Amino acid sequence: MSQHLSYWFKQALEREQSLTTYTLEQDIEADVAIVGGGYTGLWTAILLKQQQPELNVVVIEKSLCGSGASGANGGCMLTWSTKYPTLKRLFGEHQAKWLVEESEKAVYEIEQFCLEQEIDAELFRHGTYYTATNSAQVGQMAPVVKQLEELGCNSWAQCGDVESKAGSYRHKEGYYSPAAASVQPALLVRGLRQVALKLGVQVFENTPMESLEYGRPAVIKTPKGMISAQKVVLGLNAWMLDHFKQFTNSIVVVSSDMVITEPLPEKLAAMNLQKGSTVVDSRIFVHYYRDTADGRLMLGKGGNHFSFGNKVDVMFNRQSGYTQLLRASFDKLFPSLSDSEFAYNWTGASDRSVTGLPFFGHLDNQPNIVYGFGYSGNGVAQTRIGAKILSSLVMDQDNQWSQCGLAQGPLGQFPPEPIRWLGAMMVRNAVRRKEEAEDNEQRPFVWDKWLSKLAGAAAGKADKVE
Ligand SMILES: Cc1cc2nc3c(=O)[nH]c(=O)nc-3n(C[C@H](O)[C@H](O)[C@H](O)COP(=O)(O)OP(=O)(O)OC[C@H]3O[C@@H](n4cnc5c(N)ncnc54)[C@H](O)[C@@H]3O)c2cc1C
Repeated sequence: MSQHLSYWFKQALEREQSLTTYTLEQDIEADVAIVGGGYTGLWTAILLKQQQPELNVVVIEKSLCGSGASGANGGCMLTWSTKYPTLKRLFGEHQAKWLVEESEKAVYEIEQFCLEQEIDAELFRHGTYYTATNSAQVGQMAPVVKQLEELGCNSWAQCGDVESKAGSYRHKEGYYSPAAASVQPALLVRGLRQVALKLGVQVFENTPMESLEYGRPAVIKTPKGMISAQKVVLGLNAWMLDHFKQFTNSIVVVSSDMVITEPLPEKLAAMNLQKGSTVVDSRIFVHYYRDTADGRLMLGKGGNHFSFGNKVDVMFNRQSGYTQLLRASFDKLFPSLSDSEFAYNWTGASDRSVTGLPFFGHLDNQPNIVYGFGYSGNGVAQTRIGAKILSSLVMDQDNQWSQCGLAQGPLGQFPPEPIRWLGAMMVRNAVRRKEEAEDNEQRPFVWDKWLSKLAGAAAGKADKVE
């Protein structure tokens, strides 16, 4: 592969000494065909096989498993606890509480799964800090924490000495939750692929779905073979839109840009950044950072680039066009590292839904075709929940997962192009001006505050866009 891969994916492939892949080259039949070899597709395959080992499950992936968001993300394994207000508004208190708890449970389950399956994904369940880096951000988490406390499901505690734990003196306030982890994301997804293979899932890579014909069986066409499948799962992230135009306005495709330093373990130790913890600030388009197992520092920021017409491929396997912006943020957050070069940068695309939550359902009311996407930059832990929903739908199980509010399809629409892109640009620029003013402890323009509220309202209070 000569493309500009994410740092993680490159590292993961280098560690796989003998990479054997299979491409579909004949017509086959399957009980369940899963399209997309990211976390969603692979977790679904694994959960199906664990529950019904006799099922003939096939995964097809257009490139290599993990070449999408699952192998490129920041590896901040966070939960939906900060999204409680949005969850409550959409689904009511009872279900919101359950989803928060399940998202926390997912972190522990993934850790346990990696231990049991001997996946060395450099997963450290060392918690997360949600911080405020200017006075305007101070106090944003308190109302959410209060609501979680009242429900008896709060894992957050205010942290008096955040600047000495989160590695930057920019932090004015911080909350810590132990229910979070950092992970080398590509090692995780490649590990899931290994487990799926061990369980007897057939994985065909370099096998793109070209078309899907509805029916029983449904027929998936690929360049060299067709799959006749009783059930189909589409775990395609924003690539859904390449095939299914009905979702054109259900998401916006937004970039997340990432930089990573050379190894600097001594300097990181001197900064008091807690090893294996993740740190997220309280912007609308958050900064998120963490150290890595080999002593590097990674910084990411979402919301820099919005894709016109929601094209996804233009955003993957690329260098970031926003390294200067990230350099400025990096130097502000970590002045002691301002002479450290970035060793690598990359960008990827997130599938941002109106609610900031993923959605699942039956495609065009086809009882045997299900889909799930829209994770909105919060998918490392949440894709396991997605897989619980999708596997329940595939097995026609009448349970909490198949009945949950997330399984009702998209819960809102963005305006069509060109209004969507123009609007997104206007809001993004207003958010940037507002947050820059706040960083300088100045009052933002009323107009910028008002426009920023549109992004904030879509995200819900204390919700973040990674
Ligand atoms: C840069 C970046 C940073 C992020 N950071 C974080 C983070 O720190 N924490 C967090 O929780 N979340 C983060 N996310 C979000 C998280 O990575 C995703 O929500 C999650 O990986 C989605 O998994 P998925 O399997 O649904 O999608 P993907 O991993 O994108 O998988 C979809 C797969 O479908 C394949 N595909 C596409 N078209 C076809 C076709 N026609 N036929 C067959 N296969 C096809 C693709 O190649 C891809 O491998 C980030 C996302 C990005 C892009």
